[in-house]
Amino acid sequence: MSEETLSFQAEVSKLLDIVVHSLYSDRQIFLRELISNASDACDKLRYEGLTEPALLEGDATFRIRLSVDKEASTLTIADNGIGMSRQELVDNLGTIARSGTQAFAEAVKARQADDKADLSLIGQFGVGFYSSFMVADRVDVVTRRAGDAHGWRWTSGGSGTFSIAEAPEATRGAAITLHLREDAHEFLDEHRLRTIVRTYSDHIAIPVEFVGHDENGTPTLETVNEASALWTRPRDTITEEQYTAFYRHVAHGMDAPWHTVHFRAEGVMEYTGLLFIPQERPFDLFTPERKPRLKLYVNRVFITDDCEALLPSYLRFVRGVVDSSDLPLNVSREMLQEDPRLRKVRSGLTRRLLDEMARRARDNEEDYLTFWTQFGAVLKEGIYEDFERKDEILRLARFRTTASTTPVSLETIAGRMKEGQKALYYITGDDADALARSPQVEGFLARGIEVLLLTDPIDEFWVSAVPTVHDKPLKPVAAAGADLDALPLTEPETAEEAQERAPTDQEQLDRLIAALRATLGKDVADVRASSRLTDSPVCLVAKEGSLSPHLRKLLSQANQ
Ligand code: ADP
Ligand code: MG
Repeated sequence: MSEETLSFQAEVSKLLDIVVHSLYSDRQIFLRELISNASDACDKLRYEGLTEPALLEGDATFRIRLSVDKEASTLTIADNGIGMSRQELVDNLGTIARSGTQAFAEAVKARQADDKADLSLIGQFGVGFYSSFMVADRVDVVTRRAGDAHGWRWTSGGSGTFSIAEAPEATRGAAITLHLREDAHEFLDEHRLRTIVRTYSDHIAIPVEFVGHDENGTPTLETVNEASALWTRPRDTITEEQYTAFYRHVAHGMDAPWHTVHFRAEGVMEYTGLLFIPQERPFDLFTPERKPRLKLYVNRVFITDDCEALLPSYLRFVRGVVDSSDLPLNVSREMLQEDPRLRKVRSGLTRRLLDEMARRARDNEEDYLTFWTQFGAVLKEGIYEDFERKDEILRLARFRTTASTTPVSLETIAGRMKEGQKALYYITGDDADALARSPQVEGFLARGIEVLLLTDPIDEFWVSAVPTVHDKPLKPVAAAGADLDALPLTEPETAEEAQERAPTDQEQLDRLIAALRATLGKDVADVRASSRLTDSPVCLVAKEGSLSPHLRKLLSQANQ
C-alpha cells in the first residue's frame, strides 16, 4: 500500500496548535512523556505475553533506547514494546480517546502567565505524545505491532494532517524520531539528555539506554536510569527526591506530593503500596468518570491503571502504585475488577489513607487544611458513598462557619454550641461570604449560634445522609423554626428595640401578611412572621421538605 494522508481529528488539531505555538519554557518534559509511553508499551507487551507467549517473539528483554543524529538534527526514542498496528496508529495518534483536550485547553489558559502557557500537565490529559511538537517540526513513528508480519511509518508536521505508509524496516515496538526545531537543538546534547532522563525517568522500571560513540566513533550503549521498581526497595534506601521524581512520573505533574505513604501489607493479602496525595488538584478530578488512577502491578508486571475496584472514587485524587504477589497474573482485567481479593486490597488502602490523613490532621492542623482545601470536596463524597466510614470521614471534614473563616472540625463546632442549642445548623450556597451575610442567618448570629456555611455542590447530598452529629441533629437553617425562639439573644434587646420589633397590633400584622399573600399569589407558598430576622425585613425560605434553592440551582445546571 502506498502512502496515505489522513486528517487529524479537529480536537487534535486544536491541541497541536496550542502545543506548537506555546512559548513554554520547560519543554524537556516531552522526553518524560515519550519515555513514559515507551515504558507503557513494554509493560503492555509483558502483560499480553503472559497469556500469549508467541507475541514476545523470543525476546522478553525490554529496553528503551535514545539516540541522536547531529547531522540530521534528530532524536530517536525507540522501544521494543507492543508497537502499534495501522489502525492503532490512526486511533492513538490521530484522535483523542479521553475527553481531555477541552479541559486541557482551559487549564492551559487558566495557568497562563505572561503569555507563557504552562504545558507541564499535558500528560495528565492523555495527550502526552503531542508534546513532541513543542520541540520538533516533524515527527516520525516507525512501528511494528508484536506478532504482526510488517510495520508502518506514521509521519506528521503537526498541522492538520499525518501520513501512514508501509515500513518494511520496522522492528517490534516503536521508534519515535523527532526532527528538532532550530530552537531545540539543545536536545541533541548527550549530556543534557542524560540529565533529563535522570531527572524525570530514573524510576522507570525498564532500562533507558543511551546510544553514544567512543573516540573512534564506535557506537556504545550506556544505561542511564536506575531501572529498578522503586516501590520494591526498602524505604530507608529511598530519598525524598526519588519519591518526588516517582510521584511526578505517575502523576504527570510538576508539584511535590503533599503526602507519601509506602508500605507493605501482610496477612490475608500481601501487597506493597506506594501512594501519593498530590499538593494540587489534578484537572480530571470532577469529570463524570470519577475514576481512580492507581497503577496495579502483580509481581512487578504492570496490569492496569484503569481499575475502579482498587480505590473508592472519593479517593480518586490519590496517585501511585500497588503491587501484589497474591493476585492472579493470568486473569483478564475485567475479571480482576470482580475479584474478592482486590476488595481486600481496596479496603486496606482506604483504611491506610484515611488513617494517614487523620494523623496529618493531628500533627499539624494548618498544614492539614492545605490538603482539605484541595481535596475536601472530593473526600466528602465518601460521607454518603461509604456508609461504613461515614463517621471517620466526617471527623476529617472541615467547615467554614459564621464564626470562623478558617475551616474547623465538627468536633470544634459541637464543642462550642450554645447552652440550650438543640441542633447544628447549616446553610448551603455558592459563596461563603455571601452566606455569612445572608438574612437567613441573622437570627442565629444575634443569638451567638454558629452556622456551617456549605458551599461545595456535594454538600447538598451528604447532609441528608447525616441526621445527627455528636448526638445533635444536623438541620438546615430553614428548619430551625421554634428552636430559635427558645434561645436568648446575645445582646438583650433594649426596651426600645423590643418595642419596635414586637407586633404592636396583631391585627395590623395579620393584615400585612394577608396583603402580601394576595400580592405575591402563587409565587410563594406562604408568608409568615419570623424571629429569624433581626435586621432585614424579609427573607426567602424553602418550604420544609422541598429542595433548597441552592440544590435546585445545581440540578438545573446539571440538566442544562
Ligand atoms: P497516554 O499515554 O496517556 O495514553 P499519549 O498521548 O502519551 O497518551 O499516547 C497516546 C497513545 O498512543 C497511547 O495510549 C498508546 O496507545 C499509543 N502510543 C504512544 N507511544 C507509544 C509507543 N511507544 N508504543 C506503543 N504505543 C504508543
Ligand atoms: Mg503517554
